[in-house]
Amino acid sequence: MNKNEIKKFFTSQHSTPLQEIDDELFIRKDIKLYIKRDDLIDQHISGNKFFKLKYNLIEAAENNFRTLLSFGGAYSNHIYSLAYAGKKFGFKTIGIIRGEEHIPLNPTLQFAKQLGMELLYLNRSDYRKKYSDEIINRLHKKFGDFYLIPEGGSNDLAVKGCSEIPSRIGFNYNYLFCACGTGGTLAGIINGINNKSKVIGVAVLKNASFLIDEVKRLSSPVNSIWEILLNYHFGGYAKFTSELIDFIKTFNEKFNIQLEPIYTGKLLYAIYYLARNDFFKPGSKIVAYHSGGLQGLEGLRQRKLL
Ligand SMILES: *Cc1c(COP(=O)(O)O)cnc(C)c1O
Repeated sequence: MNKNEIKKFFTSQHSTPLQEIDDELFIRKDIKLYIKRDDLIDQHISGNKFFKLKYNLIEAAENNFRTLLSFGGAYSNHIYSLAYAGKKFGFKTIGIIRGEEHIPLNPTLQFAKQLGMELLYLNRSDYRKKYSDEIINRLHKKFGDFYLIPEGGSNDLAVKGCSEIPSRIGFNYNYLFCACGTGGTLAGIINGINNKSKVIGVAVLKNASFLIDEVKRLSSPVNSIWEILLNYHFGGYAKFTSELIDFIKTFNEKFNIQLEPIYTGKLLYAIYYLARNDFFKPGSKIVAYHSGGLQGLEGLRQRKLL
């Protein structure tokens, strides 16, 4: 494991474009929408996962950990990025996966395994208590010493990484939108914003009001103005409708930007909905954060869900 290589990789610029979306809807409403294309930040450590891993990997390296262990669902973008980062920087990686093993492995887990990640499956009731002493001790007995990164990569160091997102946008906007799963990315953006722009998270899961407390816990009280929209989950986490799929397809055809239905599709759908319903004052400039996650598309295609 090479500390300097990790630091060099994560602290180099990795600039990504801010792309204006010339939709006639926005012209009609006299607003502007831009997408921060962090899906392009790295092929395998893409979007917000780059920032969530950044200080965690530096911390693990500085403390001479050789093994990284984390948790996720079978299609997790975080597990995918972690497996790749582990291989790239010479850590052993362990992925604790929710639910039973399905053979053949889906493309996400196949990728992770190919890169050397060891996979262990926890049934749903054990998975729910994954941070309990009982489970963590069991994992230590099995795997020895490891650096633990929570599910979705969300901890204080992840929030610190995500606080670097706003300053990379580098122009004045009124709204910054991001998709919200565990809330770590939103918390980081709230911490990192140093202007009066409003930060809006779009929850991608149902009954997500708990995210408001979670984001309060993860972010430090500053003057930022933020809220979480709870009504664009399309039935729940990883649930979606044909209307959402059509929206993603049309958006891709018009603007040549790929979205996916778990996170960024719901995010952009919400922004379009709000624009159509005059949520934004004329003259508003809106930035949507493209948090990546496109690796998951292959698994959805394979299950004929797209
Ligand atoms: C993980 C992920 C998110 C959610 O980020 P949180 O910090 O958990 O809220 C959003 N978008 C994509 C594409 C992701 O992979």
